[in-house]
Amino acid sequence: MAAVLEPTASLAPAQGGGFLLEEVGRRRITTPESFSEEQRLYFKTALQFCREQVLPKAAAIEAKDNALLKSLVRQAGELGLLGLDLPEAYGGLQAEKTTSMLVADANGLNGSWSVTFSAHTGIGTLPIAWFGTAEQKQKWLPALASGEKVAAYALTEQGSGSDALGAKTKAVKSADGKWWVLNGSKLYITNAAFADVFIVFAKVDGEKFTGFVVERGAPGFSVGPEEHKMGIRGSSTCPLFFEDARIPVGNVLGEIGKGHKIAFNILNLGRLKLGAAVLGGMKHQLENAVRFAAERKQFNTPVGKFPLLREKFARMAGAIYAVESMCYRTSGLIDAALANHDRSAADYDAMTIAAIEEFAVEASILKVAGSEALGLVVDDAVQIHGGAGFIEDYPVERAYRDARINRIFEGTNEINRMLVTGMLLKRAAKGALPLFAHAEAVERALAAKAGPAPVGRDALATAAQTAESLKWLAVVALRAAVEAFGTDQEKHQEVLGTVSDIVIDAYAVDSMVTRTRQAAGAGGQDPVRVAMTTAYAVEAHARGTDRARRALCACAEGAALELQLVRIAPLIQFRPYAPATLRETVVAAIETAGGYPAAVT
Ligand SMILES: Cc1cc2nc3c(=O)[nH]c(=O)nc-3n(C[C@H](O)[C@H](O)[C@H](O)COP(=O)(O)OP(=O)(O)OC[C@H]3O[C@@H](n4cnc5c(N)ncnc54)[C@H](O)[C@@H]3O)c2cc1C
Repeated sequence: MAAVLEPTASLAPAQGGGFLLEEVGRRRITTPESFSEEQRLYFKTALQFCREQVLPKAAAIEAKDNALLKSLVRQAGELGLLGLDLPEAYGGLQAEKTTSMLVADANGLNGSWSVTFSAHTGIGTLPIAWFGTAEQKQKWLPALASGEKVAAYALTEQGSGSDALGAKTKAVKSADGKWWVLNGSKLYITNAAFADVFIVFAKVDGEKFTGFVVERGAPGFSVGPEEHKMGIRGSSTCPLFFEDARIPVGNVLGEIGKGHKIAFNILNLGRLKLGAAVLGGMKHQLENAVRFAAERKQFNTPVGKFPLLREKFARMAGAIYAVESMCYRTSGLIDAALANHDRSAADYDAMTIAAIEEFAVEASILKVAGSEALGLVVDDAVQIHGGAGFIEDYPVERAYRDARINRIFEGTNEINRMLVTGMLLKRAAKGALPLFAHAEAVERALAAKAGPAPVGRDALATAAQTAESLKWLAVVALRAAVEAFGTDQEKHQEVLGTVSDIVIDAYAVDSMVTRTRQAAGAGGQDPVRVAMTTAYAVEAHARGTDRARRALCACAEGAALELQLVRIAPLIQFRPYAPATLRETVVAAIETAGGYPAAVT
């Protein structure tokens, strides 16, 4: 039996987290197939820059040639790649978020460069653009947009990483009122060795968490030695020291005591951009692995012909397709929310912040899914290389080390997992998302032994059913957790983290199905996209089934638990599929393309 639920989320405008409540494909999404000519041009420009200027210099970058990195930032500025998120009045282009995400994607080919670029353009520059006064913007943004100056962002301290608001760095106004005097230190600051402008968070009078702009050379401010890192060794990471450092009184960013607004809004954007940047890295490593596997022979056979390696290639492409589909769907949601606003208006940045905040659930999803997909892809790529994958001469060795940091910065994946369910519940509690009403409708349907109604009868019907089942499983598990534990989430993180994983897979499969259906041309759906989506959906469904059971077992016991486990039966039903056919469809296309078979062109 199947149930069609009354829509509880209105169609327009889209709501953050709203995908959980809407039927798959109910609204059109932005996909790589729908990019504009201008967006494709920016992608190609950035990709060409990265391939021609960055990749050939990878060894020098890895050897910490900071002058080279700085000159690359300058070159990127000359191409207009640094100012995509900045107002035209300050040398920027105020482009759509999809465009700047595409540029982050293209720059992801080299981990150290990608992190340098992102720290400068995103977390380093945007606090001034979004929270600075007109005078501050005029003073710093044109030079940051051109690459004449480089920016860094300093939030983390020795004692406060995830707990960012626990910072100890202190700011006190000087007796003559001309300076802020800062004391304390910051840790692990990207671009620190050569940045000119630092966004620094300190507590005014030890209490009011506040953002400041600190320029290199400020008296009492110094940059410590480079950290020796596992990966992204070419990027600069240093501590900062403030010993009675004097900062002009006009360098406060935003309001005193409101630094958390800067820090958290900037992190939302950082998470989105990370979801785009990992794409470039994944696609590049898939290409490298395909090339290697075609050349390397064992048992008189190119190793890429062995089914166990072909399974890895198909999995890598599916992971990329999943993250790519979520990534540009999310940037498209933000662009759509901003579409009717004048990009040159004074309040455009405030609108941008609000639009990004609206989709903060999706940003955290993207951060976790993107960083973990990258981990999977580089791991498979090393394995495909065999021993060569462990040797520095092969780029995959570096890519493997470079990938790891993505699960740690921009909020660790544990923190982001807690944010996914935490923000959904918060939005529901304040009436921004009708999650609880939807959960009741789902429960009623399941009590009547009804699962979600089929959405379409095409080749993607089963994957679409999986998207619906995962969304229902997430809602059921979330409701069970709330009923069992109230809002006391911190003590039951393992349950809410598990539910977040179901939500993440639900967004992935929903986005892949919708994208693949939308991409269908006159000749019907592309069998390669269908195969990537179907294979991913099968795995996601198996994971979701296990996770939902685990979550429910943690929330109830005895007869109540038995009843819940019986009720989810329509959502966990296994549907047969043809693994070898799916795999070969995808891998044949990878071999033809020499890499990712659904690439932006
Ligand atoms: C190469 C590199 C570059 C960086 N660049 C910058 C930069 O430019 N600017 C900047 O400000 N910072 C930067 N960082 C710092 C980075 O953002 C932090 O390392 C990160 O936020 C984690 O903080 P932490 O290291 O203190 O770990 P901790 O917060 O101490 O975390 C330790 C472990 O505990 C877990 N944990 C902590 N709290 C919770 C919780 N409530 N629930 C569940 N688990 C929890 C974490 O997930 C992690 O597994 C960088 C770090 C590195 C390594």
